[in-house]
Amino acid sequence: MKDLTQCVVTPKVKTEGFESFGVATHRASTIVFDNAAAYASRGQRGHDGYSYGLYGTPTTRTLEAKLTALEQGAWTFLLPSGQAANAVGILPFVQAGDKVLIADTSYPPVRDFANRDLSRFGVEVAYYNPVDPEDVTRQIDNRTKIVWCESPGSTTMEIQDLPRIAEIAHHHGALVGCDNTWATPLNYKPLALGADMVTEALTKYVSGHSDLLMGSLTVKDESLIAPIRSTLGRFGIGVSPDDASLVLRGFETLGVRLKHAAAGAETLIEWIRQHPVVDLVLYPSLPDFPGHTIWKRDFLGSSGVFSVTFQPQAVPHVAAALDTLKTFAIGASWGGTRSLMAPMPIKHYRSATQWEGEDLILRVSVGLEDPDDLMTDIETFFADIADRTAQTETRKAG
Ligand SMILES: *Cc1c(COP(=O)(O)O)cnc(C)c1O
Repeated sequence: MKDLTQCVVTPKVKTEGFESFGVATHRASTIVFDNAAAYASRGQRGHDGYSYGLYGTPTTRTLEAKLTALEQGAWTFLLPSGQAANAVGILPFVQAGDKVLIADTSYPPVRDFANRDLSRFGVEVAYYNPVDPEDVTRQIDNRTKIVWCESPGSTTMEIQDLPRIAEIAHHHGALVGCDNTWATPLNYKPLALGADMVTEALTKYVSGHSDLLMGSLTVKDESLIAPIRSTLGRFGIGVSPDDASLVLRGFETLGVRLKHAAAGAETLIEWIRQHPVVDLVLYPSLPDFPGHTIWKRDFLGSSGVFSVTFQPQAVPHVAAALDTLKTFAIGASWGGTRSLMAPMPIKHYRSATQWEGEDLILRVSVGLEDPDDLMTDIETFFADIADRTAQTETRKAG
């Protein structure tokens, strides 16, 4: 072999006797075939075969297999973000004239996708009260192809009665999809509770380090594999094996990170709920949270993400007081090692229900820092809100 050829041909080295815990990062667009016949029949290799980089490598298959087992499903697809997983969980199953029912508290980009894209393609989009399965009964009809769930609901944390909603949906021949990002496949098993598809923003807890975007879509039944796989192919959607290997690495510590974050959240919440600037803490594992009974029945554990609502006179000062934070960072997303806070508007993202509270909710994600530093931060932050509130009230009185 000439030198130039030697440069581009990869020599095969011995892999026998090498076993490591880490998963190799297999990068590929081209997959090489043994012979022309194998190439010609590559389309028949099935959803678990290898035919082109877009359709998976041993690295992405490893992550898919881990998710499939934990979600108790038939197959898992990886997508470039959690939102892509939600969109692709709906798109292959609807056409003009169909209807979708979406939980009012769904992740706002899901609402956006439904309102802008599904509507544009002639699909009727309707929203239902997430905590009232009978609202699904009222609105579902034989054109309804998907009932979309997310439990707890984005920011306001409503817990859904998934088994009941799935029963109603299946009675009308609709599929049920559920976004499981808050609980992760460790703490909630939507497929075992009646859903047909479950999505995760692996971006959050599963990867766990705020340094990548990825989503997963796991199906319960083999019949759902082909329509999703062909949609992914036509849209050209796949993920990088480098990112998949980072998710696999983060996955190994998911259990301890989640437990630690939930314990940290519980400690902070005990203090937060007593503070005079606070109205409510929205967190399903609190015994007096409205969805607590269903949460206890269906979930296996909690997480480190919760929401705080404030007294009306304190609300205008929350955003400015965030600048006192030292350990908490201000930012979107959550589930990483760093604790985060983000003020969220709500009313714009509700249509089937009305948010009666103030239009600012503080979302808190507890990370892995020392709880003392987090507590100090919150004490200073709340004291600043209280100071600013008192000053305004004094000015008003004067
Ligand atoms: C963040 C989030 C997503 C989207 O994840 P990305 O990977 O950022 O697209 C989807 N659903 C829920 C509930 C989320 O919190």
